[in-house]
Amino acid sequence: MNVSFQSFGGAREVTGSKHLLRVDGRNVLLDCGMFQGRRAEAFEKNRRLPFAPAELDCVVLSHGHLDHCGNLPSLPLDGYDGNVYATPASRDIANLILMDTAHIMAKDYEWLSRHEPGKKAYRPIYTERDVVRVLDHFITVNYRRPFPLCSGVACEFRNSGHILGSAVATVTFRDGSRERRVAFTGDLGRPGMPIIPDPEPLPEADYLICESTYGNRRHDPLEHARRQLAEVIRDTVDKGGKVIIPSFAVGRTQELVYFLHLLKDEKKIPDLDVFVDSPMAVNATGIFKVHQECYNETVRQAFLDHHKDPFGFNKLHYITDVEDSKKLNDRLDPCIIISSSGMCEAGRILHHLKNNIADSRNTILIVGFMAAHTLGRAIADRKSTVKIFGTPYPLRARVKILNTFSAHADFEDIRSYVAAMNLDRLRRVFLVHGEPAALEHLAQVLLEVGVRAVTIVEPAETYELDLA
Ligand SMILES: [Zn+2]
Repeated sequence: MNVSFQSFGGAREVTGSKHLLRVDGRNVLLDCGMFQGRRAEAFEKNRRLPFAPAELDCVVLSHGHLDHCGNLPSLPLDGYDGNVYATPASRDIANLILMDTAHIMAKDYEWLSRHEPGKKAYRPIYTERDVVRVLDHFITVNYRRPFPLCSGVACEFRNSGHILGSAVATVTFRDGSRERRVAFTGDLGRPGMPIIPDPEPLPEADYLICESTYGNRRHDPLEHARRQLAEVIRDTVDKGGKVIIPSFAVGRTQELVYFLHLLKDEKKIPDLDVFVDSPMAVNATGIFKVHQECYNETVRQAFLDHHKDPFGFNKLHYITDVEDSKKLNDRLDPCIIISSSGMCEAGRILHHLKNNIADSRNTILIVGFMAAHTLGRAIADRKSTVKIFGTPYPLRARVKILNTFSAHADFEDIRSYVAAMNLDRLRRVFLVHGEPAALEHLAQVLLEVGVRAVTIVEPAETYELDLA
């Protein structure tokens, strides 16, 4: 039997996750993510798929984040006619994120072509119509429901505790009389996350393809996040200011709303208005509300036993209408405004920053990663002046950074998950989805707990899986 593994994205980097597993001539693609980063380079990498989609037998999606699902619409465009397997929640989140991405690509292209004809405008690599087309290929399967992938190859999803619907995928096949299994972590979450359950233990496997995003970092406990959030809100309200929170619309916003709900119930923050001003966050919250199968026990109980809505409370207002959004500018009393985009590159958050950044009573609360060269990073770096819509504004508001909200396992979490596997059976761990320092550190950590062999995966290199 001939089995091999090859990464076309997410090897020695953290975006563009795309891994090809070949099982006796069958081609199984694990994730088909979008590369992010410098525009010209990312565009080239995203535009040309490094394999022939028509030769794929099936695609398995671990979760709905852009770096894992973002290039799925290119597959049917290049002749792919097979299925895309995902959990029901992952399909819905992928749909929302892909539609948004297609929309942004179209808008960017139109704007640049019209306003800066001298600058190179990148043609959208797919349209909203192409997103609808790839949705036709989806087959959704819940956690722990084994299903056939292609002839002789089966698959099963286990909850990876990273975002709503996220899964570890196991690919199982028979080698003579023996069952063989390759497990792919997708992105691994951490215990104690709000809303979703803790990651399930990793299943027994002969080979593990493991993410390494925080392979050299240790997070503060999540419990700190709630306490720090309450402190920031109380301090700002005491000064008569507003709390402005730039937040990714899918996942982080729902976690914030959930934490604010708890803090209100516990009377740890004053009874002030909270606005979620983002049409995409409103749509994402709708997805969270219908996927009760993905909740942890606390949220399930709140929903079913007490008929409480964890994503709604007195004085929480979801805003979609532009006029309602503008009315927030006239508010003088303290309130909390959660808006996107998360890195302050676009969207309504820009208006709220423009209106509030120069007032020292206000707080800008950073709860997510801010990439280099973004407005979010300039604020996180506490630059004295920042440009919003091309105009410089003095940064006088307080900037507070909470690093405790990560949805990724840190290296200690990954060590525990892997150490709990059957290490006699596990032949090798392939490390993907990490920067070089994280990969090297995690490799060392895993060898120390008794993993027999660890390989840091090189882009496009083929690894034969020895099953003898
Ligand atoms: Zn992810």
